[in-house]
Amino acid sequence: MVPTSVRVRMYQVGFGDCFLLTFRYAGRTKPRHVLVDFGTTAAPSGSPSQLLGRIAEDIRKTVGNAPFAVVATHRHRDHIAGFDPGTNGKGPGAVIAALKPRFVVQPWTEQPDLAVDAKAPPGFKGLAARQETLASLQAIARHAVDIALPRLQRSFQRTATAEQLAFIGEDNISNDGAVRNLMRMAPNDYVYAGKPTKLARFLPGVKVTVLGPPTVKQHDSVRKERIRDPDEFWSLQGKAFGLGDQSGSTGDRALFPGHEQTSGGSAPLWARWIIKSLRSAQGDQLLELVRSLDAAMNNTSVILLFECGGHRFLFPGDAQIENWEYALGQKKFTELLKNITVYKVGHHGSLNATPKTLWKQWYPQGAKPLAVGKRMTSLMSTKAGKHGSVASGTEVPRTKLVTALKKWTRLHSTQDLHGAVYVDEVFGIQ
Ligand SMILES: [Zn+2]
Repeated sequence: MVPTSVRVRMYQVGFGDCFLLTFRYAGRTKPRHVLVDFGTTAAPSGSPSQLLGRIAEDIRKTVGNAPFAVVATHRHRDHIAGFDPGTNGKGPGAVIAALKPRFVVQPWTEQPDLAVDAKAPPGFKGLAARQETLASLQAIARHAVDIALPRLQRSFQRTATAEQLAFIGEDNISNDGAVRNLMRMAPNDYVYAGKPTKLARFLPGVKVTVLGPPTVKQHDSVRKERIRDPDEFWSLQGKAFGLGDQSGSTGDRALFPGHEQTSGGSAPLWARWIIKSLRSAQGDQLLELVRSLDAAMNNTSVILLFECGGHRFLFPGDAQIENWEYALGQKKFTELLKNITVYKVGHHGSLNATPKTLWKQWYPQGAKPLAVGKRMTSLMSTKAGKHGSVASGTEVPRTKLVTALKKWTRLHSTQDLHGAVYVDEVFGIQ
């Protein structure tokens, strides 16, 4: 059994992601739906106050009682806020849970059971430390927003920095309601690069490959060669905000080498100097710190590739180069990354989430853009003016990338949707 068509629906959530994939089958077989992320941190201007509630309602109507699965690529608010059932238990997350997803796909870094499973790959030995790292990053973001931001705002200086700090900081603050709901609504499917996912059996006739995130061990094997490779970024000066070695296996030294540890309340030892820094940092330094934390969380994103009927659909969440570099170093994966039909533009069009290695594979030097109808479709969910800055060449979406996407692909951006709730792209399969 092979799908007769695949529909990709991109909802207008402003700065965030919400994609509903519908695989249709011939005859009486019900369609199968996969929701990839559901969140926002900045709603589109003029949108209703209950934006996520309305989208949840549309998803409910679309899915009905058909088989349904959920993917939460990573823990950022702009990808999971919609899974929050709210304090009254009637929020959008409750609507999604009521659709009874068969399972929820999440990155292995979200796995709550810290016991080392004998069947797990050796890379799992760093799991506990890695998970503590991620939880602590959220605590640090909370500190930045609660302690440092009001001070910056009171000073009436560097307003742009304060706005950036508020935006990125809030995206990183733990969204417990959504996280718990994702854990409870269905059995979980925690994945890493190369691990078989439950999606494969759920979608007859569709091959599903997990390209990221790598495990600690997988990542370590390539990171030394390629970390902070300036050629991979959509900027003149490659400026990575990766955390370097964040495997957790070497504790505090892994995060910010050379810094002393100081007392910082309940935070883990290795994080205390950061909290001290947050208290005393000037705005720009503070923003840089919070950006580093933001990049670490983005790099836990699940990267999924769906293949059927000669079409390939690539959903990389917000994966940045440190996540991508593992898949891009594996021949079996790079072969799969050729001839993509739909590309969900990584990280809302930011400069460091569409690696140049990937791009050059699609559009090698000397290539010419295809006729519009034959091009790859790129779907970009974004809202300009929220993240990065034009002055530093870090604006999201990155102008250089958008120009290239317009020239080489068939680009749909949520910014062009105006009043529409979503845009659909349908791909028939002979
Ligand atoms: Zn995001």
